Parts: sequence; structure tokens; C-alpha cells
Amino acid sequence: MTYPTLFIRKGKEQSLMRRHPWVFSGAIESETTSLKDGDLVCLMTRKNQFLGLGHFQHATISVRILSFEDEVIDQAFFDRKIKKAVDARLNIGLLSPDNNIFRICHGEGDELPGLVIDFYNGVAVIQCHSIGMYFSVEHIAKALKNALGESLHAVYSKSSDTLPKRQEVLDGYLLGSCETPHVAQEHGVKYHIDWITGQKTGFFIDQRVNRKILGEYAKGKKVLNTFCYSGGFSLQALNQGAVLVHSLDSSKKAIALTEENVSLNEFHEHHESIVADAMDYMKELQEDYDIMVLDPPAFAKHREKRHQAIQGYKRLNAHAIRQIKSGGIIFTFSCSQVIDKQLFTNTIVAAAIESGRNVRILEQLHQPADHPIHAFHPEGEYLKGLIIQVD
Ligand code: SAH
Repeated sequence: MTYPTLFIRKGKEQSLMRRHPWVFSGAIESETTSLKDGDLVCLMTRKNQFLGLGHFQHATISVRILSFEDEVIDQAFFDRKIKKAVDARLNIGLLSPDNNIFRICHGEGDELPGLVIDFYNGVAVIQCHSIGMYFSVEHIAKALKNALGESLHAVYSKSSDTLPKRQEVLDGYLLGSCETPHVAQEHGVKYHIDWITGQKTGFFIDQRVNRKILGEYAKGKKVLNTFCYSGGFSLQALNQGAVLVHSLDSSKKAIALTEENVSLNEFHEHHESIVADAMDYMKELQEDYDIMVLDPPAFAKHREKRHQAIQGYKRLNAHAIRQIKSGGIIFTFSCSQVIDKQLFTNTIVAAAIESGRNVRILEQLHQPADHPIHAFHPEGEYLKGLIIQVD
């Protein structure tokens, strides 16, 4: 099988030779007007040296590399890649009697750029971030069945939110079906997951390990979980014996999800929810919390928004630091990819200075093993957090 060839400008092939999986439009020497979004292309140097195969898109990132080998992108290709990703998760025990929620594929981290697959107790939800991947969803669904066998009952494809509107995208089941909300478990806690109406694929799996760590701090404590969505952090705290958890979100829908999850686990005696803006609530805080969780949505999705985002993180954290009781602990996060670990830490330090209180960093947190960062694609790092203690 041969794919249309695109030649890479002299000098621009270096990043591909270092196996970085993105090709920017300026690196391509060939005419691309006849290509359609999602076409498979072969990349070559001006000296006819093979560089890689990838999906083309009329965008700033023009090609995302699927393979650095000269091979055929067919069912067998997806079978190999998906099996490798599934085995990596099974090998570290992510599917166990008390856990059946994990990410099967994390885009570039699993050498499948543009492809996210999440697993919820027998159901895989595919979310494509590139049109080329979307064209392969049938292969991907089959590959999932081949890799997971009896552990997989249904595959749902959900890409209408993540692909450009110019592309017609249909969401739906590719294999089996499953009523929603569907109950799945994270570290022994049950959650209702609804991939059809929920945000992303239905749950924020990337905080699994950090939620477990929160549980370790929460016994006997009074916790405020801001930006709670479906109550992920709240439930792990309650499961480990928090005396009182307040879950806060500005979305009524998110609070309804949290309350359903609290009921599902019969934790209502120790839980209250609050619909409010996190910043406003924190400013006027009347309560004396031992622990606060700050897990806002990405304040900066693009580099140009970085300055504004830093101000946002600083303000939010300064409020929390000012308001928490003496000896209190704050779990603070940023999922903005354009704000790196160091910049985030500096921002928290600035917030501490502004608050006038003494702050120590106890632990540094990050994204879990099922959200791997490929060594040749450092841009894959996005989630960072700190556990801080305030005197
Ligand atoms: N911590 C969650 C995920 C957070 S997603 C988990 O573990 O699952 C971010 C959430 O922040 C969304 O539910 C969104 O509704 C909420 N949100 C956005 N802006 C907000 C604001 N200003 N105040 C409170 N909540 C907000």
C-alpha cells in the first residue's frame, strides 16, 4: 500500500528524526491542496529518505505521526498498538476487583496521536481529536475487542465535541450497548458514569491517584472540594473517613451528579453540596476547613492566555491560603498544558507571598501511569499539583 508522499523541507526533518510526532505546516514543502483532512500520508526527506506515516489535516499541526516504520495502517496495525496499550494498563493492575476505571489510550503517550480511549467497567469510550483517527474508529473498536475479549461489553464513539465542526461526526455504539448511567469503581468507590451527557468521556480519570492520596489525608477531617464535577475527590475522602465533605461546583448539573454518587455509596450523612462560584465562596468563607481541594478547569488553553491564567490561579490559591485554618492542607492543581510544573509552583509561591502566610510544599502531584508522557513528546505533560500546608 502506498500513501501520498509529502516532502519535508531541508532542516525541518530533525524533530521527526528525534521521533517527535507532530509536523507543522511550515515544514512541508509539497503542495497539499488535493489532500483531504484525515488522509494518510507518507513523509520523506528531500533525499527520498523515509521519515514516517501519519494523518494529514489542514491545520497548524498538519501531520500527526502514526508510525516511524514503513508499514501498512490496517486492522493488524491497530490490533498491535491497542494491545500494547491495554497490556501496559493490565500489567500495573488497573483492572482489579476494586478498580475498573482507567484510560486505555492517551494519544501521543501511547503513540496514537489524536486518540483517547477510556474504560468504565466493561465499556470503552473512544474520543478522537483528529479526523484521521475518527475514520479508523471501526478498526479501533475491533482492536479493543481483540485485546480485551470478555472484559469488554460495549464500545461507544464520542467525537462530536472534539472534532472541527466542518466534519460530520456521529456519536454512538460501535459494539454492544449499555444503559447510562453505568456504575463503575475507582479504588473501591462506586461512581455513576454517563459518557453520553457527561463532560469529556464522562469522568476525570486523570485524578485517580491524587484522589487516593487525598483519602490518605482525609480521615477525621473537614474537607472542601471545589470544582468537584461528579464528586471524585469528595467520595474518596468520605470513603477514608472524612467527618464532613462540602462539594462545590458552579454547575447545578455537576452537583446533581455528585449527589447521585454520594447516595450510591451511602455517604450522605457526612456530605453537603454547594452550587456557587469557587472564587466568590472562598472570599466570603465562614467555615473552618482542614483540607481544601482546588481543581479548576484549564484556565489557559493557548499560550496567549497564559498571563491571564496565571493571575487566575494566583487569585484562587491566595484566597484558599488566606482562608484555610492553621495547619490546614490544600491540594491545588492545574491541567493547563501551557503552564508547566515550574511556572505553576512559582504561581503558588506568589499566592503564598500575597496571602502573607507561611506555606510549605509537602508533595508534588502529577498525571497517573495510564496518562503517560512519551519521552519524545514532552508536550504530553499537562496535569500538575501540589499539596501545601499553611501555618
Ligand atoms: N475535580 C473534578 C474535575 C473538575 S472539572 C473531578 O475530580 O472529577 C472542572 C469543574 O469546574 C467542572 O465541573 C465545572 O463545572 C467547574 N467550574 C468551572 N468554573 C467554576 C467556578 N468558577 N466555580 C466553581 N466551579 C467551576
